[in-house]
Amino acid sequence: MVGGTNPAPIKDVLGKLTVEDLDLQNKRVFIRVDFNVPLDENLNITDDRRIRSALPTINYAIDEGAKVILASHLGRPKGKPDPRYSLAPVAKRLKRLLNKEVIFSPDCVGPQVRNLIEKMQPGDVVVLENLRFHEGEEKNDEVFARNLADLADFYINDAFGTAHRSHASIVGIPKFLPAAAGFLLKKEIEYLKGVVNNPVRPFVAILGGAKVSGKIGVLENLEANVDKVLIGGGMAYTFIKAMGYEVGDSLVEDNMLETAQRIRKSLKERGVKFYLPVDCVIAHDLEPGSETKIVPTLEIPPGWKALDIGPASAKLFDEALHNAKTILWNGPMGVFEVDAFSRGTFAVARSVADAYALTIVGGGDTDLAVHRAGVSDSISFISTGGGATLQLLEGKELPGIAALTDKE
Ligand code: AMP
Repeated sequence: MVGGTNPAPIKDVLGKLTVEDLDLQNKRVFIRVDFNVPLDENLNITDDRRIRSALPTINYAIDEGAKVILASHLGRPKGKPDPRYSLAPVAKRLKRLLNKEVIFSPDCVGPQVRNLIEKMQPGDVVVLENLRFHEGEEKNDEVFARNLADLADFYINDAFGTAHRSHASIVGIPKFLPAAAGFLLKKEIEYLKGVVNNPVRPFVAILGGAKVSGKIGVLENLEANVDKVLIGGGMAYTFIKAMGYEVGDSLVEDNMLETAQRIRKSLKERGVKFYLPVDCVIAHDLEPGSETKIVPTLEIPPGWKALDIGPASAKLFDEALHNAKTILWNGPMGVFEVDAFSRGTFAVARSVADAYALTIVGGGDTDLAVHRAGVSDSISFISTGGGATLQLLEGKELPGIAALTDKE
């Protein structure tokens, strides 16, 4: 066991009302969901996982006889209506997924929507138009929040991906209504807080992505409970340069060199095993078809960039995972968007999927990587958040959760 203070085991990680604590029968229930789905140029939904993730809460509310009012943002319409960001295609997809009528309201506030809601019967579902068509949403305007709250008897937040934003539909409405967590929000918190506060050990954290600065908070917060840390992605080269080695033209954050050294030392003092890539795939640039080589990490020539971990690192990381009982992975091992630099990330995805461990994958890029690697079904939990996931892993409270009504 490594040193450090062991936080108390978490029994109720949320401490807030959840959807099951409310009697929804015949009540108007405003559910803040994250329907911020990707659309192609013809406004077709290219990935509906965010809609599917909200189905348990929506179906529960329907079954309990609630009048279900669904609200979300989509894209960045900058406070005014913009047909490119309409939620109409989402309402259509939801109708198919629920296999029942879904009413679309062309605005989220105003007399028209109040009229629609007055006519609702228990079990009916209304999808409101994009909340961000109003400036008040992102500004957390109190009047806008009040207008939204007036539509309903209860508020439920199931939009984990937006829970780190202090927007009207996240922190404003709960000032006026009893506010509870939906099933998705609850599950996210339980998994992510569970892994941070009370992981079954050995606990291995794999961190990648572009920059050390983006992940330093996570490293510091996991320090006390982690047994091994595996570093890949661009952030590895700041650590390697901080140790005094040349890294060619690889991504380096010069202002993070000292921090990188400090965190590496601190982990070592706690007895945490710290792994960096031993080899890497290098190129002059990201252009498809440009020359690539595999070299030991300590032999990156001047003018070359390390853009993926190499095969020896993938093997090393795989072996480091063998005794793990909990694995947390956040951030790709290389520029996986480009074929030539995707192998390291996909190899790690397979290793994580094959491990006999509770496996938690967090953040947009890593989520995409496990899907592209075809192993998403073998991961215990894939977080739907990006920024929200990181904030929880950093041990910070999310405004959207703090705003909910306390259980007591
Ligand atoms: P982040 O948002 O910090 O998790 O970073 C994700 C991004 O890091 C992805 O878009 C990757 O292309 C990029 N990335 C991963 N490895 C490297 C690398 N070795 N050099 C530059 N960028 C990288």
